[in-house]
Amino acid sequence: MILISLDTLNRSALRAYDERAVRLPAIDAFCDESVRFERAYSSASWTLPAHGSLFTGLYPDRHGATDRRVTLSAGAETLAEGLARRGYQTAGFTGGGYLDAEYGMARGFEYYESFERDKSGPSETGAQLVQRVRSFLKEGRNSSRPLFLFLHSYAVHNYYDVRPEIADSFPGVDFLPRKNYIDCAIGRGPCPPGAWRQMRRLYHAELRDFDRAFADLQSELIAAGIWDEAVVVFMTDHGEGFEPERGRKHHGGRLHGDQLHIPLLVRLPHSGPGVIEAPVSIVDVLPTLLDFAGGGSDAGIDGRSFAPLLGRAGNYESRPVFAMEHYFEWREGRRFLPGRISELPVASAVIDEDDWYIRKRSGPEELYDTESDPGQHRDVLGQGTGLEALRALVSERRRPRTQTPLRGESPALEKNLEDLGYVGEEDE
Ligand SMILES: [Zn+2]
Repeated sequence: MILISLDTLNRSALRAYDERAVRLPAIDAFCDESVRFERAYSSASWTLPAHGSLFTGLYPDRHGATDRRVTLSAGAETLAEGLARRGYQTAGFTGGGYLDAEYGMARGFEYYESFERDKSGPSETGAQLVQRVRSFLKEGRNSSRPLFLFLHSYAVHNYYDVRPEIADSFPGVDFLPRKNYIDCAIGRGPCPPGAWRQMRRLYHAELRDFDRAFADLQSELIAAGIWDEAVVVFMTDHGEGFEPERGRKHHGGRLHGDQLHIPLLVRLPHSGPGVIEAPVSIVDVLPTLLDFAGGGSDAGIDGRSFAPLLGRAGNYESRPVFAMEHYFEWREGRRFLPGRISELPVASAVIDEDDWYIRKRSGPEELYDTESDPGQHRDVLGQGTGLEALRALVSERRRPRTQTPLRGESPALEKNLEDLGYVGEEDE
């Protein structure tokens, strides 16, 4: 079983979802043989709460990792713990930051390695990640047990690192220092002319570079006899905003489609491609994979197995899915961080087959038609039908977050998070 989370991957960056996307030979070929989920939604728009949901099957308010200062709830069984309990060898290779063991993300992994960046060095490239997998396959793999391999990369997330190899592929373009792009994207500083165009080019160049690593990864895993028999999930935790004119910038703090409507592809061994229209959430991945591992999951979690949509026994019933934000806030084009840990969401969203409803704690509401306006260009709050039911769903869901421990002090991790662009202006 292989779970790949390519952090900050826009749905529209894949040809499987948008025919205008750039060609990615390896990833496109993988998508062509996979089941594609048309309506997959994240639970949050930034790395920590979204991966918390992926790992626990719980929405952020229940797993508790809602703020850079707090960890995952120790009471929640993680995906790796569930698979280890079912006899899997569990190995995780991540880009660190919010996937650091300090947040509780290593629980259940026999091997868990976060990439250690040099001082202010760029994020790990796809090629470096594949190198780590290669070493593990050679030295750490125990072939008497089934394998769960979790791979996470910030290669695309950190397009603003402007690695020389990427910059050199655009001769004559003077890219800006990384800080200028981050400041522009989060509204902390001005956006120099052409900054957005450059950021988009860097993002897609990093994705093309990752695609080459994806091809190598696949070859390694085929050679090791793992790939062909594995369930392979390829997805992201959230997207990236590249529409400054609409205030749809960067990520974290917003609950719009560019952030939460994510790519999700599942390649099943000995089974063909397909398209699934039923809405599913990132919280559903854990029970689904446990299903494929041969056992049910705790009925008390938020996620529901969508394995029945992939040919397994049982039923998958569509239900509204949720997303929430406890940490970042956008005001007048700038992203802010709260001084205190917020116990209640600062914004909540509920998504069903027709509606995408967002409500901020401070009052404003937004409503979009998921069917006719996937790009969310027209707020239909004024004409919304069923608004009361959506408001009630959000209110019902709004309860204090599960209390979880503060994470340990770690200057190296703080620096790492800052390099990942997780900075902003302290509020209060
Ligand atoms: Zn992320």
